[in-house]
Amino acid sequence: MMKKLLPTATAGSLPKPVWLAEPEKLWSPWKLAEEELIEGKQDALRIALQEQQAAGIDIVSDGEQTRQHFVTTFIEHLDGVDFEKRQTVKIRDRYEASVPTVVGPISRPTSVFVEDAKFLRAQTDQPIKWALPGPMTIVDTLYDDHYKSREQLAWEFAKVLNQEAKELEAAGVDIIQFDEPAFNVFFDEVNDWGLAALERAIEGLKCETAVHICYGYGIKANTDWKKTLGSEWRQYEEVFPKLQQSNIDIISLECQNSHVPIELLELLRGKKVMLGAIDVATNHIETPEEVANTLRRALEFVDADKLYPCTNCGMAPLSREVARGKLNALSAGAAIVREELLAK
Ligand SMILES: [Zn+2]
Repeated sequence: MMKKLLPTATAGSLPKPVWLAEPEKLWSPWKLAEEELIEGKQDALRIALQEQQAAGIDIVSDGEQTRQHFVTTFIEHLDGVDFEKRQTVKIRDRYEASVPTVVGPISRPTSVFVEDAKFLRAQTDQPIKWALPGPMTIVDTLYDDHYKSREQLAWEFAKVLNQEAKELEAAGVDIIQFDEPAFNVFFDEVNDWGLAALERAIEGLKCETAVHICYGYGIKANTDWKKTLGSEWRQYEEVFPKLQQSNIDIISLECQNSHVPIELLELLRGKKVMLGAIDVATNHIETPEEVANTLRRALEFVDADKLYPCTNCGMAPLSREVARGKLNALSAGAAIVREELLAK
């Protein structure tokens, strides 16, 4: 699809304008309502697109401007989940959150993001990527009082995700990405049913597919957890061999300032890699040379035509100024290495 070498992309979310939702916060409530909210979300989406374009990002997204949270906004639109009935669960085995309850069979009476995707498609001819939560991560962000089986619940979500993905593809989305941070935590479950559920979610799609596996947003629960992981983060070693064998086209992962041994990328050889070269857990804006260094190290293990410079994770919790700076750094760093490759 991409002819340009080292096409840049972001993992997903970008900060929202202050008039739409309180910034630098997850699950931030909307400041507008009804018709004003619909218009406000569209304006925010336009701005997010323009900021990516101004920075020279090649594969653009909606910056997740129309969703409050990457998981809950999707399930809000489904039948079978009660948002009034809340339970406190431990998410990613790491931090407690109040989550909605599965009370009956899961179904998707209407599309969730398809109108937003059409709106984005109408604004640009560039390749567009759309993120959906992965089945295992959804299961891990809910309390289940109906199926009483994480595996069966994941399977039900995979079916509705597949319906949504097919409509997003028809709306002109070029890459559909599933966010599966839970893949970095529950290795046995990935093996038993997580990857199977993800493959069910992409069944029959002709557009490209991606899975994003990271160490989470730059929030305190995640940065505290990272401190317990030691000097070498080998979590990816558990899932990369299986992903390499899977039908997923692109693997999106965290690399900048992480303790992931870079040689683990060899386990993905043959797949396209969206490589996180921007740290989303710090306000320090990378220099283009810092980005370039990360890309050069990755090129020892990823074929140049399969390397997509990207951010470690979403940038929703950052300030808009920092996020803009990081987009520019990503572009500039990729440009340095692109020139080096073309000069060879
Ligand atoms: Zn992430």
